[in-house]
Amino acid sequence: MIYLDNAATTKTAPEVVEAMLPYFSEYYGNPSSIYAIAGKSKEAITKGREQIANVLGAKPEEIYFTAGGSESDNWALKATFEAYKNKGNHIITTKIEHHAILHTCEYLEKERGAKITYIGVDENGVVNLDELEAAITPETILISVMAANNEIGTIQPIKEIGRIAKEHNILFHTDAVQAFGQIPINVDECNIDMLSSSGHKINGPKGIGFLYIRKGVKIRSFVHGGAQERKRRAGTENVPGIVGYGVAAERAARTMAERTAKEIEVRDYLINRILTEIPNCRLNGDPVKRLPNNCNISFEFIEGESLLIMLDMKGICASSGSACTSGSLDPSHVLLAIGLPHEKAHGSLRLTLSEEITKEDVDFVVEQIKAIVDRLRSMSPLYEDYIKKQQGK
Ligand SMILES: *Cc1c(COP(=O)(O)O)cnc(C)c1O
Repeated sequence: MIYLDNAATTKTAPEVVEAMLPYFSEYYGNPSSIYAIAGKSKEAITKGREQIANVLGAKPEEIYFTAGGSESDNWALKATFEAYKNKGNHIITTKIEHHAILHTCEYLEKERGAKITYIGVDENGVVNLDELEAAITPETILISVMAANNEIGTIQPIKEIGRIAKEHNILFHTDAVQAFGQIPINVDECNIDMLSSSGHKINGPKGIGFLYIRKGVKIRSFVHGGAQERKRRAGTENVPGIVGYGVAAERAARTMAERTAKEIEVRDYLINRILTEIPNCRLNGDPVKRLPNNCNISFEFIEGESLLIMLDMKGICASSGSACTSGSLDPSHVLLAIGLPHEKAHGSLRLTLSEEITKEDVDFVVEQIKAIVDRLRSMSPLYEDYIKKQQGK
């Protein structure tokens, strides 16, 4: 099997699993209790929080553990809206956010009286900063822009966005689920007030995430109950999850330079081979301001879903957009936002690498894609028409 769907989830690293294991069977105490094994759990949480804070240049007490990226995104938006609604009801976000942001915005708009502005992006998926700044009103309380896109890999100018937010005294949240551990992010340099991340996207466990909340941000509690997470997110902590997440974060930061340099080399080899060897296809997303492991290509005259099924038969795991979009027939909102017509958006394939993928793997994958694209096009009446026109018939 060749796994090329690391934007959907990643393999839990062996050192992460190893670090977690004792916290299931040996140190299983409730961190809020007072005996010795509970103390072990409490220490482990403290360590995990420090490991994560270090990666962001944050303070440990600004890290709040959640059950994942979706929860962190929900919390950031809903609880900021509640806490700041006396100041205003306007939130600015983008058209290319993950559904955890977009569907939360829809909810706030429909049920809670929020006004949401969805900023557009250019043909490479980069947020339009002039449009963003022009959208600011005295009612604007929050700007939420993702650090990097999960479908097309485009990295956003979060430093500039943070500067704009700060100049206008508006809170800045970023969904960094794809970016954390992949590209350097410092919350102070980027003026980030809140940041979402998720363990399973960085070789950590599933079901654990965090929301970074800058000291002084008056966000509401998300879960009411015990005093965990400084009374802002109650519930007995996911101790093994936090341990694994801490190790995964530390590992991602420690290996970042070397790992991503290798990924970029293999990624560009993959992109170049596809673009030069297969006619009528294009790269989606920014060629340079791009996550080290992301390749997203649209192939004309074919359905991405058919391509996926045939790749699966060859043992290749890929995606036609976000895992949440697959299963529905709507084309990806991200591909539509960068201006692709429906038929091109439908023929798209996302391949997201890991450090384990080699050029030899890429050679095999490219040969399979070439054969499958040929076969699917040979069955397409649209392609037949196109070829006839090309030949002047
Ligand atoms: C995966 C992902 C999420 C959701 O994270 P979960 O931990 O799966 O809930 C949110 N935003 C982005 C950009 C993602 O890639």
